[in-house]
Amino acid sequence: MSRLIYLDNNATTQPLPQVVDAMLPFLRDSYANPSSVHRFGQRIRHEIDLAREKVASLIGAKPREVIFTSGGTESINLAIRGLLRALPNKRHVITSAVEHSAVRKVCERLRDEGYEIDELGVDHEGSLDSAELEGKLRNDTALVTLMHANNETGMLFHVKEAAELCKCHGVALHVDAVQAVGKMPLDITSLPLAVMSLSAHKFHGPKGIGALYIRRRTRIEPLIVGGSQERNTRGGTENVAGIVGMGTAAEAILGRDPGEVDRVRALRDRLEAGILAAVPIARVNGGGDRVCNTTNIGFSGLQAEAILMLLSEAGICASSGSACSSGSLEPSHVLKAMGVKERVAHGAIRFSLSHLNTQDEVDHVVEVMPNLVSRLSSLSREQ
Ligand code: PLP
Repeated sequence: MSRLIYLDNNATTQPLPQVVDAMLPFLRDSYANPSSVHRFGQRIRHEIDLAREKVASLIGAKPREVIFTSGGTESINLAIRGLLRALPNKRHVITSAVEHSAVRKVCERLRDEGYEIDELGVDHEGSLDSAELEGKLRNDTALVTLMHANNETGMLFHVKEAAELCKCHGVALHVDAVQAVGKMPLDITSLPLAVMSLSAHKFHGPKGIGALYIRRRTRIEPLIVGGSQERNTRGGTENVAGIVGMGTAAEAILGRDPGEVDRVRALRDRLEAGILAAVPIARVNGGGDRVCNTTNIGFSGLQAEAILMLLSEAGICASSGSACSSGSLEPSHVLKAMGVKERVAHGAIRFSLSHLNTQDEVDHVVEVMPNLVSRLSSLSREQ
């Protein structure tokens, strides 16, 4: 099989053809500045408004509650820092031990700046304990920031429960929904959170564009100041092509058969069951509720990099999650927080699917895994 089998959709997804087609005119001829008063500029402004409506309707929000950013990382920075700047007297922040580095690094900086950061632990499945969250909420808590779906394991946090608890205590909740959008229905009307981060390239849109949902009457101070774009919350001339692409990707999800989520889940389950049956040392990291597309499988005693290299030679793209992402041999903080043994964590591979994957692709991966693992096992025995 010479074609590429792409099972790394939590890293990024393939932009849909209609996304690219929708963007091209804005890179060529439709180049006016949306803030210009001439008709050319106003036509572009209208396209931004349409894209905002599509992204808003994907999450059940009102268009005025959505602002565009340069991606998930910027949305997260704006959510956390923007909320804190609006509440200067509150210096306590609650987060979890398994967040993406975009949240972790902001929290590390905040700690250096004198904020008190409380980290919630997870159990062996990767789930949060709401009682622990409730016990940590205080009068001076400014903000709780939690992810919806974990990028490494696909584990889902019960953000609805967290949102209700935070609402009861009058504390703002930020949800990093970057890995949830497109993989499950998301409806902000039944989730009483304050702000939520999204990223287009994780749902078949372009890179470099994201959005922040900001519930009405939530005060957020901008991080990027300049022009009055995005309701004075994010200065700078808009990335029009990116915004149009994100709108088109949102529209594609809305138009997709809801059964596709089940089809992706069935493919993921087939892949997981196939590998577990064929490779005795394989174990799934994480259990309980997960998004439909992700499985994290530990190959005890092997190194993830070696597995990924052989998979890549076979034309298969997967990932080790964030494990060893900096080239260090530190195992993933997510798996560590779940209590996964180092032997298993070092050999953890994340397979993340999308609706573009097929059963043939999954079956091919299951077919190549046993041989690949036994080659590596015999190599490590020889060493
Ligand atoms: N949050 C999560 C859970 C992610 O998985 C990622 C990207 O991997 C991000 C945030 C950052 O998003 P972006 O790449 O758009 O900056």
